[in-house]
Amino acid sequence: MSGVTRVVQKFGGSSVADAESIKRVARRVLRTKQEGHDVVVVISAMGDTTDELMDLALQVSPQPAPRELDMLLTSGERMSAALLAMAIADLGATARSFTGSQAGVITTGTHGNARIIDITPGRIQSALDEGDIVIVAGFQGVSQDTKDITTLGRGASDTTAVALAAALRADFCEIYTDVDGVYTADPRIVPSARQIPEIAYEEMLEMAACGAKILHLRCVEYARREDVPVHVRSSFSDKPGTWVKDLADLKGPLMEQALISGVAHDRGEAKITVVGVPDKIGEAAAIFQTVADNEINVDMIVQNVSHVDTSRTDISFTLPKTDGRKAIQALEAIKDRVGFQDLLYNDQIGKVSVVGVGMRSHPGVTAKFFSALAEADVNLEMISTSEIRISVVVDADRVDAAVAAAHTAFGLDAESEAVVYAGTGR
Ligand code: ADP
Ligand code: ASP
Ligand code: MG
Repeated sequence: MSGVTRVVQKFGGSSVADAESIKRVARRVLRTKQEGHDVVVVISAMGDTTDELMDLALQVSPQPAPRELDMLLTSGERMSAALLAMAIADLGATARSFTGSQAGVITTGTHGNARIIDITPGRIQSALDEGDIVIVAGFQGVSQDTKDITTLGRGASDTTAVALAAALRADFCEIYTDVDGVYTADPRIVPSARQIPEIAYEEMLEMAACGAKILHLRCVEYARREDVPVHVRSSFSDKPGTWVKDLADLKGPLMEQALISGVAHDRGEAKITVVGVPDKIGEAAAIFQTVADNEINVDMIVQNVSHVDTSRTDISFTLPKTDGRKAIQALEAIKDRVGFQDLLYNDQIGKVSVVGVGMRSHPGVTAKFFSALAEADVNLEMISTSEIRISVVVDADRVDAAVAAAHTAFGLDAESEAVVYAGTGR
């Protein structure tokens, strides 16, 4: 970095897991400030705090009120923001922490999954003008309508960071985490995964959408829309990480040549099969309208050929596990009206996807992917494709084997082992 720039730095939970790590992050932040930059830090809750708060809530009440759950969960980020400000003050600099609401993160009112609709960073701006380091609690905002505190979805501190970087016209956004950058697969599953020096927004978008939790999906959407370059790197080393940028700004021709840039997996989905749906016009529409009315996002859909003797068919679809109960209840309620016979629910599945812009110009990617899976003895339950992605649903127990097989088949294995510095992968 050279010249005065404005930088947003986000530190994930595993980078601030304990007091010592918070002090380490404080030193790192201060170093950036001392280089002459304006620094805005977005911070996550310490370690697995969010999961622990969630477990606690569920012990108190099986279905906690979403408004209160958000009040509870946002306290994790508030803790680390205040602690980091204290640690920075001890190093002799001035830092001020803000909640999402104080930082001007205005959202929709959907608790647990609110969307940022505006950022009014007045207080951040004045603090920066006064020479302070600004620390913002990630993952949260305030609803425009109800004025209640909201959360932006699991992993969404990344999105807070990029949204602030856009609003503050920062030069770029740094996402500090527990691995050296974006890899060709999750290094916790594939130790031979290769670090990617730079990747286009659209590929990163597909990887994130397919479950690569290194970046929150909406953070990548935001970065692409606002053209914010994102540097994903380790808070435990000084190594250069991965730049996520516009395809046109990538340096090497590398991305264009690689057939596949990565393999992603997702264990967060479940499969519902609607059994014995009468083969009549409008039945599928009624089923998916009900699902949509409940604000549930459907991912893959498969409809079987109808049985000649019964004129009935089965329709299967995948959805986030967290919406499973809601979907089953809603579909039970229309069972008689639609006239289907049964509902099956399976959350022991995983989705494995290969992603790459190179796929556009190379035939045979599907064949190669499927043969690799067959050789690894992985059975395919569902398939879906886009222009730059092929996804399959497999048994939960076979996810790791499927990811490794695809990674090897597309020649992505590196010589050296990837480093995972911290975190529980939870
Ligand atoms: P943070 O707490 O910093 O937000 P996360 O746990 O959300 O960290 O994301 C980092 C983790 O993402 C890594 O430890 C790694 O296990 C996982 N991951 C999944 N896919 C990838 C990938 N393609 N490249 C790098 N990390 C990945
Ligand atoms: N603490 C939140 C979570 O665990 C947000 C984040 O870390 O990005 O989901
Ligand atoms: Mg994360």
